[in-house]
Amino acid sequence: MPSSPFIIVAIDGGAASGKSSTSRALSERFNFLHSDTGSYYRAVTAELLRLGISPADPAAVQNALAGVSLATTVRGRRAVMQIGGREVPETEIRSAETTANVATFAAIPALRAALLDYQRSQAETARTHGFGGLVMEGRDIGSKIFPDADLRYFLFADPAERARRREQQGLQDQVAKRDTLDSQRLRESLQGATLIDSTYLTLEQVVEQIAGEISAKLQAA
Ligand code: C5P
Repeated sequence: MPSSPFIIVAIDGGAASGKSSTSRALSERFNFLHSDTGSYYRAVTAELLRLGISPADPAAVQNALAGVSLATTVRGRRAVMQIGGREVPETEIRSAETTANVATFAAIPALRAALLDYQRSQAETARTHGFGGLVMEGRDIGSKIFPDADLRYFLFADPAERARRREQQGLQDQVAKRDTLDSQRLRESLQGATLIDSTYLTLEQVVEQIAGEISAKLQAA
């Protein structure tokens, strides 16, 4: 029997557009590694804030990052970042302070460059751990990290609906403000991707659409 191909699925989209829930569900259904790159930008932001580094000082950001190693721990089907041997706790990754600063730090070219190879290396991490593929979510996955991904999606949802989702999760998040800071990357990753407007769709409906296309790719191989 021919072995299944290794599939890379890129899922981009704005804040609270449903990327994480969708990616998690797909990773479980197909036994793919789930890589939430927003959590990497958040972990790095939390670490820089802990070191007292301001996003207004890109040189200090670059120096700090030059001195730390980035590694990956696979937990279940999730890829978790270690910075300098430390795993940043979820409470810090999702804190209001991290959320308020992450898009400003993420706009610093040296920081994005420091994360580029790290993110690409996750395909190899997925392979060596025996996963059938990688589902990676973020803002520039289909445009910069894996432009040759087998499937590329852009999730969209109405801003009012996204604010409602965050409120329901009990999280403080200025969704529209972050999207403005992320807008160039969002525009680039939309090009050539399949757009899914999830405003009036359930999570299951979004997952079913993508899952159908992944299954078709697996069967065609
Ligand atoms: O996905 P999440 O909303 O947790 O991402 C947090 C922030 O990280 C985004 O607002 C964005 O500024 C940054 N980010 C990015 N590129 C990615 C993923 C996240 O710039 N691939």
